[in-house]
This record gives sequence, structure tokens and C-alpha cells, in this order.
Amino acid sequence: MRTLSIDDVERLVEPGYFERGVGYCDRGRVTETGRWRDRLVAEVLERDGDGHRVFLDVGERVRATCSCRSIRRTPFCTHAAAVLVAWSRDPRTFRRLSRNPERPAPAPVRSEDPEAVASLRRMLEEIGEAGLSHLGEERVAALRRLWGGLRTSGFRRLAGRVAEFAARPTPEALVDLVFAARGAQRASSEDPRHFGELRSTPPGKPIRELRLLQIHFGENHTADGFRVQSSHFFDLTSGEIFVETLLHPRRRTWDRKRSYADLDLHVREGRVHPGFSPRRLKLIDVVERPLGPEGYSGVVKASTSVTALRDRYGEWRREPLAPRSMEALVRTSGYLVRGGRLFLVDESGDLLPIECEGIPVRRIVRALAPGALHARLVFREGALRAEPLSTVREGGVIPWTGDPLS
Ligand SMILES: [Zn+2]
Repeated sequence: MRTLSIDDVERLVEPGYFERGVGYCDRGRVTETGRWRDRLVAEVLERDGDGHRVFLDVGERVRATCSCRSIRRTPFCTHAAAVLVAWSRDPRTFRRLSRNPERPAPAPVRSEDPEAVASLRRMLEEIGEAGLSHLGEERVAALRRLWGGLRTSGFRRLAGRVAEFAARPTPEALVDLVFAARGAQRASSEDPRHFGELRSTPPGKPIRELRLLQIHFGENHTADGFRVQSSHFFDLTSGEIFVETLLHPRRRTWDRKRSYADLDLHVREGRVHPGFSPRRLKLIDVVERPLGPEGYSGVVKASTSVTALRDRYGEWRREPLAPRSMEALVRTSGYLVRGGRLFLVDESGDLLPIECEGIPVRRIVRALAPGALHARLVFREGALRAEPLSTVREGGVIPWTGDPLS
């Protein structure tokens, strides 16, 4: 029978599950450990005293079965991870069994009423279409009723998100809730492995005839363990910024989102998610052409002066549900360092402070080219400030943050 080191276990188990498994093991939740030939069995206790039966084959391949639900989403759930950790620490604590233990019954497929989630989804779509500013008392009350229904149907985490959204209906909370509802609906009816993929597909309105150039390509992480990759696009026809994102459960191997660097995209069909700019976009039918060196000049021409931007930001902030930051392209004729701070200078000499904490100096130096600065604008310490993403100029895009656009 194979012995495993803690490093072996960490390699096998998805991050997050591994850390929780260690925690469970440390708190003595792995009980009734036994072994029979290449098999390990254990009962892993939850905080509420419920136990999950874990069954692990530790032969050539390591495989887990557990009576919990999350084992359908990952090869090793927290309970299996905890047993593997216990095994790696001291195999002697697993007593030899005289016969083959009984395999744990797989977790029942959710038997909740999927209609509760379906109504939630319909309501969220309506809210998305109408806009958050039209979220009346009546809808909030309906959401609260749904919260109760979801809780009694066993969708406890989703119910929690509904309550959060009803209390503080921000666009981010809405988007989050839409994805959570779609995921829950899918998990309750179909194969939950597509959860990550599903979250990458925004619902939305059909949109046609966009001409997009990618102006930023980057990656970040969400608090609930998803990896988010995004392309930010400038639409030459409307002057609007759009974003296409791909969400993945965080794990070691994963598909990278495609970058559209140096391509001229003619979108014949797509869908946009309702919400504040930059609106989320799903590309469906796109004609791609290579972009010549002068290709980005249209983006630079369409960028905004600092003064015009202050006005736009002022309007943005008057909308009660607008996010804290607004994405924009600011025309840049140069940069200036004053009092240890970096400022963008536009053609009329107006200054805009740039926040570049955490950005490597060599990236900053490369990106200090005249053109247009693609940035998130935030109001902080009494001033409008730019959190830079990239510089767009004739000849290409230079990233400040995110991935090189190659
Ligand atoms: Zn489990």
C-alpha cells in the first residue's frame, strides 16, 4: 500500500480543499480510520456533528468516494483531503480491517424544488433589464419571499446571497447572484462539473455591429476561489468599453482565455449583460482581421480629456448604484513626476494623479508613452485618481498590469 507525503497530498488535492482538509485533520475530525488492502475508510465529522463516510483507494491511482455532495465537483473533497492528510501523517492510526468495508452511498442528487431557483433567475433577469434604479419595494419584498423558499429548499448559500443582495443591491451583487443562481440551477438538475463554464456565459441582450479592439488582457481572483480572466475592448462605433470575462474554478490545470491582441474584431452577433459600463460581453459571431500598425489611432482619437472626464465621473457618481470606479480612456500627451507622485498630463495641461503602487517600475517606464491611458478612475482622498491598466497608442498596447498582450 502506498504511503503518501504531505506534499503528495497537496499535489493531488485542489487548493482550498487541501487547506480545509489540513484544518479538519488538525481539529481531530477524522475518526474511525481503517484500512483493507489498498483501501482506506474513515468517518469525517462536520462541526454540526454530521459525519461523512470516506472511502479512498490508495493504489497506483488515488481515488476517493464520499457521502458528501462536493465530491461530485472535485476529485478530493475536504473530507477525502482530511483522510489523506491523516494517512500521510501516520498510517499506523488506520487499523487493519478483517473484510472489505462497504462503499459509502453517493450523495443524493438535490431533491429540492428547482422551481425556486428558476423563479429567482427570472426575477434577476427582469431586474437586470429594468435596471437597479428601478428596484422597487415590491421586488425587494418578492426577493425576501424567495429567500425563505430557497432556504427551506436547501439552497442555503444561494439564499444567503439573495439576502445580501436585497439588503445592498449593487450591480456587482446582482451579477454575482445571477451566476450563483445559474450554477445552482444547473447543479440541481444536471452535471455540476460545468459550473465554472456556466459562470462564464452571461445572459443578456443581443447586440450587433460592434468594432472592437482589445485594450487590456488580464487576470484576477475572486474571494470565492474563481480565477477571472478578461479582455477589455474599445468599440470604435460607440466609444464604449466592453469586457469579456472567463471564470474558472481555481485549480492547477485550466484553459486560458484567448487574447485578441492586434486583431480588428467585427462583431456580427453577441450578447451584452445589463449593468454599468464596462458591460460584459459574450462574443458569438465575430470576423477577425489583423490590425495594422495605425490600427489603434482611432482609439486614441476617441479618448477623453481630463476635464471632460471629471464631468463624466461627476455624472457617474450621481447615479446611486454606480460602482465606485469608472473605466475610461484618457488622452495623454505626457507624464510628470511631482512631489513623488506620477501625473498624467493631457493636451491642455490638465493633470490626473496615477496610482502605480505594486506595478513594477520597468512596466511603468515602458507604459509612459503618449496616447490614451486606459484606467479605472476612483475618487480618493479628495481627488480623482487613475488606476492604470494599459496605454493605447498608435502601433499597439502597452500593459501596466495584467498579461502582456501577446
Ligand atoms: Zn466529502
